[in-house]
Parts: sequence; structure tokens; C-alpha cells
Amino acid sequence: MAASGQWAEKSLNDTITQEKGQYIAVVEGSIPLAANGAYCTIGGRTAIDIAKEVCTNSYATIAAGTCASFGGIPAAAGGVTGAVSVGEAVPGLRLINLSACPMNGANLAATLVHWLTFKELPATDSLNRPLFAHGDRIHDNCPRRAHYDAGEFVQEWGDEGHRQGWCLYKMGCKGPATDYNCPRIQWNDGTNWPIGVGHGCVGCAQPGFWDTDERNAQSTNPPLPVPTRRVSDDGAATPPVATMNKEDGANQDGSSIEREIPPEEEAKS
Ligand code: SF4
Repeated sequence: MAASGQWAEKSLNDTITQEKGQYIAVVEGSIPLAANGAYCTIGGRTAIDIAKEVCTNSYATIAAGTCASFGGIPAAAGGVTGAVSVGEAVPGLRLINLSACPMNGANLAATLVHWLTFKELPATDSLNRPLFAHGDRIHDNCPRRAHYDAGEFVQEWGDEGHRQGWCLYKMGCKGPATDYNCPRIQWNDGTNWPIGVGHGCVGCAQPGFWDTDERNAQSTNPPLPVPTRRVSDDGAATPPVATMNKEDGANQDGSSIEREIPPEEEAKS
């Protein structure tokens, strides 16, 4: 929509009345329900009022970003606006959640092109997110994965491992618990992405973000067996051994308990 002000309102109203059931509604941001929706009003109407009219008359609704998809930062602990996702605010929609903070525009373009090309929406996961964008874990496509498997972890910002590009799991990386195509499409026309510049994934595409962000003191790493790096007397690295805390599957404090090797792995070795 190129218009603004009253012309934008006219364009919106024309679309709803003249293209009913044939347009895609794209909603950015969560929808506040507290105080009868007074925390967000546009043109004198509340966001929830507008969303009910625009989304229910659309062919489908795209929730753009984690706030629209899952509530996001406005719905995090301590929020007062009663913010909820589009799907919670207006139940029953044909809905695509394009989560992430911010949403990657390449995924929005891909969703729209898919609809225009095939006249149907892309296949989604159980959270209504397109599988082409959210079908794989970041951990499984991360260029630092070899360092994870080798037990080579950054222990402190700026340490030698950090300068060498080692795995950020022990710095709180949420890549093992985040389904997103961030490693493949990256940002700014493929310039780079968070892990590429040395910061762990914060899990922004998952439900519960911001409260699960690694900067939150209550946050924990996703439970994974953590390989331990072994160095022989002559200083050479030897094959790593995956380790796991038997209580919760995690190894947050550096202690190592050797993982039980499944029979099929043992047979290969
Ligand atoms: S824990 Fe994070 S940095 Fe390490 S391999 Fe997985 S996604 Fe990459």
C-alpha cells in the first residue's frame, strides 16, 4: 500500500469490500487486549477491532514477526498490555506465522510467491510456520557445528575459541532449539547472520521469545549432550566424546559424564 492517512484507510476499506476472501492480510505486531484494546489504536479504532474485520475477510492472514506470531516481546513477563498473537486475538483464521525478530523479508516474499504461483499456501509445521523456512534446526545447518561435534566451545567472550569461530553453545546459543532458515538465507541480502558475527542464536523464531532469550538469567541452554574436547600429551586433539548430565541431558557447568554409546554407533566404530 503506497498511500498514507485517509487514502490508506480508503485503500484498506476498498480491499475489504471489493476483494473479500481474495486478499492476503499481513499483520505486524502483537495485538493488545487489555483496557479494551486501548494500547493500540489506529484512526480511532483499536487494533483488535481492525484485525477482526481485516483478517476474517481475507483469504489468509500472515502474522509477520514473532510478536504477531506468538506475542513476542510485548507478551513477555512484566508486560501490561495484554498482548497476544494474531492467532489468539482472532481465532479460526487461515494463518501463516512468519516468526523471527524481525521477520526475514525473504520468507515473506517466498510465501507470497508460493501463493501466487501455486494458488495455495506453503506446507506448515504444527505452529503454522512454513516448512521451507522453519523445517530445520539452526544447529543442523550451522557452520560452527563441526566445532560443537569436536567439543570446541567458546567459554568467554573474546577468548581464543571465540576468535577461532568455535561453537557458542556454552554462551547460551539457542540454535539447537530453534527451527529457522537463518543460516541459509542470512540477512541484508545474505551479508551475514547472528552466529556468523560471533553471537549465539537467541531463539527469536520460537514461541516464548523474549522470556527464553539467553540474556535472561532464568534462561537455560537447550538440553544436549555436550562433546568434550580431548587433547593428548603431545597437544594433538583426539576424537571427542559426547557427554551428558544424566538428570536433564545438559552439561552446563563443564563437568563431563560420558554419554552412553547407542549400539548402532558402537557397531560403526
Ligand atoms: S550450538 Fe549454536 S553455535 Fe554451536 S553449532 Fe549449534 S547453532 Fe551453531
